[in-house]
Amino acid sequence: MTLLSVNNLNVSFATPDGFVKAVNGISFSLNPGEALGIVGESGSGKSQLVLGLMGLLAQNGKTTGSVKFNNNELIGLNQNEFNKIRGDKISMIFQDPMTSLNPYLRISKQMTEVLMFHKNMSYSDAKNESIKMLDLVKIPDAKNRVDMYPHEFSGGMRQRVMIAMSLLCKPDLLIADEPTTALDVTVQAQIVTLLCELKKDLGTAIIIITHDLGVVAGICDNVMVMYAGRTMEYGPVNHIFYTPQHPYTQGLLKSIPRLNDETYGDLPTIPGNPPSLLNLPKGCPFQERCLYAEEKCTVKPPPLVTFGNDLKKACYLEIQQ
Ligand code: SF4
Ligand code: MG
Repeated sequence: MTLLSVNNLNVSFATPDGFVKAVNGISFSLNPGEALGIVGESGSGKSQLVLGLMGLLAQNGKTTGSVKFNNNELIGLNQNEFNKIRGDKISMIFQDPMTSLNPYLRISKQMTEVLMFHKNMSYSDAKNESIKMLDLVKIPDAKNRVDMYPHEFSGGMRQRVMIAMSLLCKPDLLIADEPTTALDVTVQAQIVTLLCELKKDLGTAIIIITHDLGVVAGICDNVMVMYAGRTMEYGPVNHIFYTPQHPYTQGLLKSIPRLNDETYGDLPTIPGNPPSLLNLPKGCPFQERCLYAEEKCTVKPPPLVTFGNDLKKACYLEIQQ
């Protein structure tokens, strides 16, 4: 059965400068144990997409469309109803663990509270379970470290603690927003490996948000490339990597650092910046940065078309093999 089914999701914000459509008509679905990567530059709407589907938007934000989780509609739930799902069935981890961990409380206190709240566990059972989870994410000497404060851990270790916390209730879905961005390359690789193992061992479905296509290669089954709040391309990870169809995806792929590459340190990036969401161009949102833009690209946004076996792209270019 499908775990998560997102249909024509829109997220918009009322701002003093006008109406901002941060997410525009996004649809996808996710099966249990599957991992989806959502990729795009900052400002492409990736974070607002998941905040929207989790009911965590800022006050001036509004979500329309449908988000079905285990066949239950999430859009329109009140915060009480959302609180029962968040942290239990669906967990999130963020870029900077320090903003999500309370610096004044021992890790043991923060972890046991989650289990006592969601699972009605006694303190001692909750503490044992917390230690088990820290072990699982490979925190050395978890039995003693569980009583430390967040600042006593390194950046990479704090991110592991966050992952352990998010897994406490054995969620069906883990959403990770830029989980490795603040970490150095070696630690990034360790966290990616860890997420892969969790997916395999616990069967947790994962949505991972990143600007780095390299990160999703190791973990994800499917990838969605977002730009200016829309899906530009969607498909199995191998397809996106080896036969990317959209010029934006092709540009993102060129900017992945490759070890042993002579040009390391001098990577091509896509010239220019994403358009302002307050003032999107008519036609394709990528037109100003696209090497292949033609007349028709400036008239009407290309529709998202499905081709092959569950591949999608929003671009007027012919499909290349
Ligand atoms: Fe480039 Fe046109 Fe395709 Fe947009 S629709 S990505 S401008 S070729
Ligand atoms: Mg973000």
